[in-house]
Amino acid sequence: MENNYIPYGRQLIQEDDIQSVIEVLRSPLITQGPVIEEFEEAVARKVKARYGVAVNSATSALHVACLSLGLGKGDWAWTTPITFVASANCALYTGAQVDFVDIDQSGLMSIEKLRTKLEQSKANNKLPKVLIPVHLGGTSCNMEEIHKLGIEYNFSIIEDASHAIGGEYKNDKVGSCKYSDITIFSFHPVKIITTGEGGMAITNNKLLKERMKKLRSHGITKDKKEFVNKNVEAWYYEQQLLGFNYRMTDIQAALGISQLQKLDRIIQIRTEQANYYMKNIKNTVEYNMIPQDCKCAYHLFTIKTHDRQKELFERLRSKNIGSQLHYLPIHLQPFYRKLGYMEGDYKEAEEYSKSRLSIPIFPGLTRNQQDIIISEINKVFQ
Ligand SMILES: *Cc1c(COP(=O)(O)O)cnc(C)c1O
Repeated sequence: MENNYIPYGRQLIQEDDIQSVIEVLRSPLITQGPVIEEFEEAVARKVKARYGVAVNSATSALHVACLSLGLGKGDWAWTTPITFVASANCALYTGAQVDFVDIDQSGLMSIEKLRTKLEQSKANNKLPKVLIPVHLGGTSCNMEEIHKLGIEYNFSIIEDASHAIGGEYKNDKVGSCKYSDITIFSFHPVKIITTGEGGMAITNNKLLKERMKKLRSHGITKDKKEFVNKNVEAWYYEQQLLGFNYRMTDIQAALGISQLQKLDRIIQIRTEQANYYMKNIKNTVEYNMIPQDCKCAYHLFTIKTHDRQKELFERLRSKNIGSQLHYLPIHLQPFYRKLGYMEGDYKEAEEYSKSRLSIPIFPGLTRNQQDIIISEINKVFQ
C-alpha cells in the first residue's frame, strides 16, 4: 500500500495500547490467563450486560452462539443478504440451512418483509430457529419489533453487532441484549476497536454463557461442579461436547482492554467526521438514514451513488482514496448460488449493492483528508 493511501477504515493504536500488550508479554500467562476474564467483564460492563465470552474472531463468536442456541441439522437460520458472509456462514457450520430477509431503504433487514416471510413460512412449516439481524454500518436494527416477532414465532435472536460497539438503541447500549439472546462484536482492525483478530459474544443468560465458554475450548470443563464423573483426581478435566480452539490470547485481551477505554472518544470522532461529510458533501447526495432512536457507531459512512458507483470508486482510487462496497449481496456469491439462490431473489439488496459506496471514516483521518475526499465526491455529483 502506498504511504499516502487513505483506506476506508483502519485501527487507532497508541502508545498505551502498545504498553498494555508488552505488560502481558512479560507476565507468566500469555493465553488462558486472567486478562481474558478482565476483558470480558469490561466489555459486558460497558454495554450493561451480564456476560462476555471472548473468542478469536466474530466469526467464531457467531458459530458458538448458533451452537449454544441448539441450531443444527434440519433447522433454519435467517439473516440479511447485505452483510459480511460470516453472518450466514455461521449457521451452515452447524448443519442448519440459511435463508435471507430482504432489506429496506436503510440497508437494514426490513421488518415488513420479515413479518411477511414469517407468516408465509409458518404455513410451510419452515420457520427459523435463529434470526441474525445485522447492525449495518453501526446502526441498530429495530430490535423491539424483531423481539416481538421472536416471541410470536418462537425464534432466538443473535445480534451481529460487528459494526456497532459503542452504538445505542432506544437509550440502551448495543450489546445490552435487552431484545436478544446474544450479541456479537468483532475486533478486527477495520472495526471500531481492535484486538488484531478477535470477537466477543455477549449474553445475559448464564447457561448460554457456559455453553459458549465450553465450545470455545474443545468442549472441556475444569469445573468440578459440572463433571459427569464424580470422585475424580485433582488433575482431571472433562470433555463434554465437541468444541473448538476458538480462544483469544491474553495478549489480544490486553489490547482490547486498552482499546475499550478509547471507545467513547472513537465514536465521538467518527460521529464528528460523519457530520462533517453530511454538512459538506453536496446536498443532492443521500446517505443511509439513521432512525431517531439510534445512536450510530459509524463503522461505515455509506453514500448513495445512484448510477455513479463505478465512476466515484475510480475517481477516488485515482486520488489514492479507498472506498468499498458494503456489501455484495451474499446470495449472489458463487457458493450461495450453488445452494440455489439467484439474481432477483432479493431485489432491494441487489439494488442497494449497485448504488452504494462506503468512504473513509476512522480516527486517524484528518480534516484535510476529508476535505480532499469531499471535493472529489462533489466533482462527481456536480
Ligand atoms: C467483520 C464482520 C464479521 C466477522 O468478523 P471477524 O472478527 O473478522 O470474524 C461478521 N459480521 C459482520 C457484519 C462483519 O462486518
